Amino acid sequence: MKNVVIIGAGYGGLVASALLAKEGHNVTVIEKNEQPGGKASLLVKDGFQFDMGPSWYMWPQAFEKFFEEFNEDASELLELRKLDPSYRVFFDDGEIIDISSNVENNYEIFEKLEPNGGEKLRKYLEVCKKQYDISMKRLVYRSYNSIFSIFTPSMMIDGLRLKPFSNYHKRVKAYFKNPKAQKLLEWITVFLGGDPRNVPGMYCMMSYLDHHHGIYYPKGGMNGVAKKIHEIAEKHGVQFKFNEAVTKINVEDKKATRIITENAEYGADLVVNNADYHHGETQLLTEENQTYKSSYWEKKTMAISMHLAYIGVKRKIDCLTHHNYFFHENWNDHFDQVFKDPKWPDNPNFYVCCPSRIDEGVAPKGMENLFFLVPVASDLEDSDAIREAYFDKVLEKFENWTGEKIKDDIVVKSLFTHRDFKNRYNAYKGTGLGMAHTLWQTAVFRPKHKSSKVKNLYYTGQYNHPGVGVPTTVISSQILVNEMKKEGVLV
Ligand SMILES: Cc1cc2nc3c(=O)[nH]c(=O)nc-3n(C[C@H](O)[C@H](O)[C@H](O)COP(=O)(O)OP(=O)(O)OC[C@H]3O[C@@H](n4cnc5c(N)ncnc54)[C@H](O)[C@@H]3O)c2cc1C
Repeated sequence: MKNVVIIGAGYGGLVASALLAKEGHNVTVIEKNEQPGGKASLLVKDGFQFDMGPSWYMWPQAFEKFFEEFNEDASELLELRKLDPSYRVFFDDGEIIDISSNVENNYEIFEKLEPNGGEKLRKYLEVCKKQYDISMKRLVYRSYNSIFSIFTPSMMIDGLRLKPFSNYHKRVKAYFKNPKAQKLLEWITVFLGGDPRNVPGMYCMMSYLDHHHGIYYPKGGMNGVAKKIHEIAEKHGVQFKFNEAVTKINVEDKKATRIITENAEYGADLVVNNADYHHGETQLLTEENQTYKSSYWEKKTMAISMHLAYIGVKRKIDCLTHHNYFFHENWNDHFDQVFKDPKWPDNPNFYVCCPSRIDEGVAPKGMENLFFLVPVASDLEDSDAIREAYFDKVLEKFENWTGEKIKDDIVVKSLFTHRDFKNRYNAYKGTGLGMAHTLWQTAVFRPKHKSSKVKNLYYTGQYNHPGVGVPTTVISSQILVNEMKKEGVLV
């Protein structure tokens, strides 16, 4: 039995803790905040319950694979509901399109958008499915310990079949000329923290998941899922220490021996860092023990940060469904102001989640729970005045777009942006999603699961392969534990 200390109770830390405890180890998770879930925390205010971070339950297979390890059926355990429509898109010319959980309906929608659009969507999604199949077979559930791991003949063949050098926008544009059709397929790159022009086209596998497998709502939202994993971990004996920040990973003879927190010290045979990778490396280790020094991080393309607003409204808003997007037909200016010329976007596109449309538990009766999200550049100046003015701007757009004047009906309001990501999660440059998924920040090019300087120090979370997102973070910890088993460090 090993003493394993995990830093951080985000999805990465929770999953790793449950898996390691199931293997019979003595696992302690130390978390600086008051609850499990990390970015998927819950904000409770005046009868409203807001998912503070992720709201999309997508790629059900990835969750099932994890819960099966504990003989649990994900759809029963999480009380999953398939959403229909999956989401609603409001365009700036007034058109509203509902993407259905039945792909046949979506062929009809695309047929109306451009000649032969339905058949084009069918063909496009066939390609996305092929990408998904190749990725599942070869690329996702595996580690990349060195650059040479991608130079095997089978990896090269499969890697090239994914056409990694074509960007997402180009790939979509090869099928669709209509700007709305393009946007309905490209928005998903925001999940990867990028821009359709800098995310590789091979991630179109996500459109296959979206259109063929649908979007679900777990009871209690995405924080509810984190709570279930936390329960499973505790059932297997994991000890959780909340409200305790790690301040140092003590290293002797290239081994992490003790984890120092504000109040205590914990001896460790193995250490897993789930805190923001940059924080773990540059703040918790001394320079000679850092695999990735400050200069490494400075050169990386960081993913988006977000301007978030948790809003309670004292009446119903019938034009909304659970997931709602608001897109300008020309959205490149917004992306340019995130990645090329970072500033608060002048003309933002945004997302509004309204879980109270289907879950009575998240808002008082007759009221709505709204979560506004605007993707913005990391590390912007973020004062109270800026964030307030920015919310007013987004709210005005929302009101004009939907015709629903809600300003005077707001009873709860809480804003969350860069400095909150920094303060609450130690997030580098206040980004919400870590490192963007550009080609050179994918798979073997993401930071490794294992430190190359400290023998018994490991990493898991959205910075590692396979990357940003809840299902990918779950997979990251599954990969990590498999690697630890293969390495023989768990015996
Ligand atoms: C607003 C938002 C919306 C999103 N929407 C979606 C979505 O709809 N679907 C989806 O799949 N993904 C979504 N994502 C992405 C997804 O939430 C993340 O990729 C994932 O949750 C990251 O998990 P993690 O375990 O890597 O990191 P984190 O969740 O950041 O966990 C790391 C933990 O480490 C803790 N920590 C940091 N420093 C210390 C320290 N010194 N000592 C102790 N603890 C420490 C932090 O407090 C945190 O709890 C969203 C993210 C955000 C921010």
